[in-house]
Amino acid sequence: MAASPARVIDLRSDTVTRPSPAMRAAMAAAPVGDDQFGEDPSVNALQGRVAAILGKPAALWLPTGTMANQVALRVLTRPGDDVVVARESHIVWYETGAGAANAGVQFTEIGQHGVYTPEEFLAACWPAGHPLNPPTTALVIENTHNRAGGVVFPADQAARVCEAARARGVATYCDGARLWNAAVASAATPEDLAAPFDLVSVAFSKGLGAPGGSLLAGPADLIDRARRYRRMQGGAMRQIGIFAAAAQFGLDHNLPRLASDHAHARELAERLAADPRLRVDLARVQSNIVVFDTDDRAPDAPTLVARCRDAGVLVVPFGPRTIRAVTHLEVTAEDCRQAAAVLVAAAAP
Ligand SMILES: *Cc1c(COP(=O)(O)O)cnc(C)c1O
Repeated sequence: MAASPARVIDLRSDTVTRPSPAMRAAMAAAPVGDDQFGEDPSVNALQGRVAAILGKPAALWLPTGTMANQVALRVLTRPGDDVVVARESHIVWYETGAGAANAGVQFTEIGQHGVYTPEEFLAACWPAGHPLNPPTTALVIENTHNRAGGVVFPADQAARVCEAARARGVATYCDGARLWNAAVASAATPEDLAAPFDLVSVAFSKGLGAPGGSLLAGPADLIDRARRYRRMQGGAMRQIGIFAAAAQFGLDHNLPRLASDHAHARELAERLAADPRLRVDLARVQSNIVVFDTDDRAPDAPTLVARCRDAGVLVVPFGPRTIRAVTHLEVTAEDCRQAAAVLVAAAAP
């Protein structure tokens, strides 16, 4: 065992950030009320602001992104329906089977590296009223796509996919847990990225640094139904204005600095790519996530992750030879240079 390092550089996720003293002060000062009576002024203000940012008539606060996904599925589908989604999406991989358990849906995974085309969607889309096939009633686009390495779903392609869906009577949902990153990475507005979709979610617990909270936005009738399903899943809370204040703080202070997370991820990826034992597809390093592989001259992912942990750098195994590192507001450019050096050293046989 190496001596324990002075300071741990935690690149496991952008969810590990702790609310800063200034964010906590904003939370402490937030006016609150019982949200079940619609009386929390801070959450009402946040819901209005996020609806406006996303260009949707209404928005609803939910405790987690997972619940936003699950509520969206309840709103847009019926049990037995099929939902088209990019391969390795959060809604399929990381929600403990909730789509099947809650909405009763099954998924068809398509495309490559988090992205799919209108043609791929149409080829996977089952018609309604078929005597054998499960009807496709919704599609999901994850933007940015986590397992693909923070890949941005191109805005024009999302618009064409959603247009094809609409022509088939298929509802559209954007899992935008990292939509803020997608907007910054592609110089689009969040409103542009949200425009093609019936429902869109955004998270405040990732790059924006809040301790929790996601919002689901869309037309008023769908958001009214979402409110019922939020309650049904046990997600209706009370004085959540303290979370809303953290989200507002994130929008004001942390959204403008996301570009530096992306620059840090880029530099980290380029340093890893220079090692012949590590494989990084630099074209897919578009935001704050770096997913890379070790070749057979390097240790496997669990070994590499353990060596890095001993050297004070935390990353997560993403597959037998695949590792993920995520940048966020608690890591500096210098941290990322140090982390790259540790990762490269750990990749030596
Ligand atoms: C983190 C994440 C979620 C879920 O958010 P939680 O708040 O952790 O439940 C959903 N989708 C994507 C793409 C995510 O990265």
